[in-house]
Amino acid sequence: MAEKKKTDDRFKKFGTVNFTSLTKVNDFVDYLEQGKVMGTRCKDCGIMFFPPRADCCQCLTGNMEWFEVSGAGTLVTYSKLKYAPVGFEEDLPYCIAVLDYGSYKIFGRIAKDIPDEEITIGMAMKTVTNTLPNGQLNYVFTR
Ligand SMILES: [Zn+2]
Repeated sequence: MAEKKKTDDRFKKFGTVNFTSLTKVNDFVDYLEQGKVMGTRCKDCGIMFFPPRADCCQCLTGNMEWFEVSGAGTLVTYSKLKYAPVGFEEDLPYCIAVLDYGSYKIFGRIAKDIPDEEITIGMAMKTVTNTLPNGQLNYVFTR
């Protein structure tokens, strides 16, 4: 009898609430475990994606490579949440935000240790890996 194929469900480890355990970008989680936040770049047209995509929406190819999100992005916008979707209630209040890295933008959360009064549009922020209290992995924006 053939050996049962092992399911690659590494993506289950990502995020507060995870709706997707199987993706074509499961390596994203391995990189998070190594302390790296990674996106993908199309080798044909150069477009960069975050969150990472396995296929390019311009070329319709899967000719992609990983790149590390490094250096600082610029805080474009943010919003403090006092109400949250199901599953995120325990995290309240938290700030969702967008960082602009020039060739790509990243949607995520601002680290909880940054006081509200120190958050300003245009400030430089870094994207770093983070481990949630329940052991799940994600990434946050910090100074
Ligand atoms: Zn492309």
